[in-house]
Amino acid sequence: MKKIFTLAVAALISVAAFAQPQVIAHRGYHAIKGSCRNSIEALKQAQKMGLYGSECDINLTKDGVIVVAHGGLHPDKIYRKGEDIPRLNIQKSTYEELTAIPLENGETIPTLEQYLEQMKKSKKTKLIIEVKNHYTPEKETEIVQKTVEMVAKYGLNDMVEYIAFRPWVCFELKRLAPEGTPIAYLNGDYDPTYVKGMGISGIDYKYDVLKKKPKWIKSCQKRGLTVNVWTVDDEDKLRWVIEQGVDYITTDNPVLATKLIKEMCK
Ligand code: MG
Repeated sequence: MKKIFTLAVAALISVAAFAQPQVIAHRGYHAIKGSCRNSIEALKQAQKMGLYGSECDINLTKDGVIVVAHGGLHPDKIYRKGEDIPRLNIQKSTYEELTAIPLENGETIPTLEQYLEQMKKSKKTKLIIEVKNHYTPEKETEIVQKTVEMVAKYGLNDMVEYIAFRPWVCFELKRLAPEGTPIAYLNGDYDPTYVKGMGISGIDYKYDVLKKKPKWIKSCQKRGLTVNVWTVDDEDKLRWVIEQGVDYITTDNPVLATKLIKEMCK
């Protein structure tokens, strides 16, 4: 009798446990001394943690260099978080102009090539590359083409995944990247049926979108689409997305995400 009871309890516990999502460090693991968003150090720290992925943003400079950066850089050489002061527009600046402005941790703005060099140093952590919107579709095709070629040149086809807000960028990635390369759509406005029809591999939607439409999670998974969610940092929100069974969590707080997954998932 006791044995049956123990088995029943064990079965209940296993039902209560959730599938294990993978953790992606948003702009690398930057919430640590000496690191900052989209720096080489942030990628190194994500690799050191052994995370599934490290996300980064890429832009094409005026003179055609692919750099890792989210938005503009501050021309006064001080990176002021949250302050509304003018920034140097990356897509309208030359690479040389950008290198004159240090990042918050003192690094020079990284090129995608430097990022890929660092990628070669770890076999575990994947690079999730967000191809940013550009001013024209031609520029977007150019950055996609150059990126895909560079990733292949570094022998990293299996270590790179892509995300983008623009459907056009997703289509160009699908056309130019090797078949089967994961590509997820970020903008949150298309339902699972439509995304499936785009021929890409998944969604990567904002937390608020999935909170409003939680049914989209299972609906995507039923269609063979992966579900990633950004940017989930608080404990309550992390618990909710883990309970919902998402496949990936993109977070500025990979330490807490990893801890909660360990606690909640089998
Ligand atoms: Mg991004």
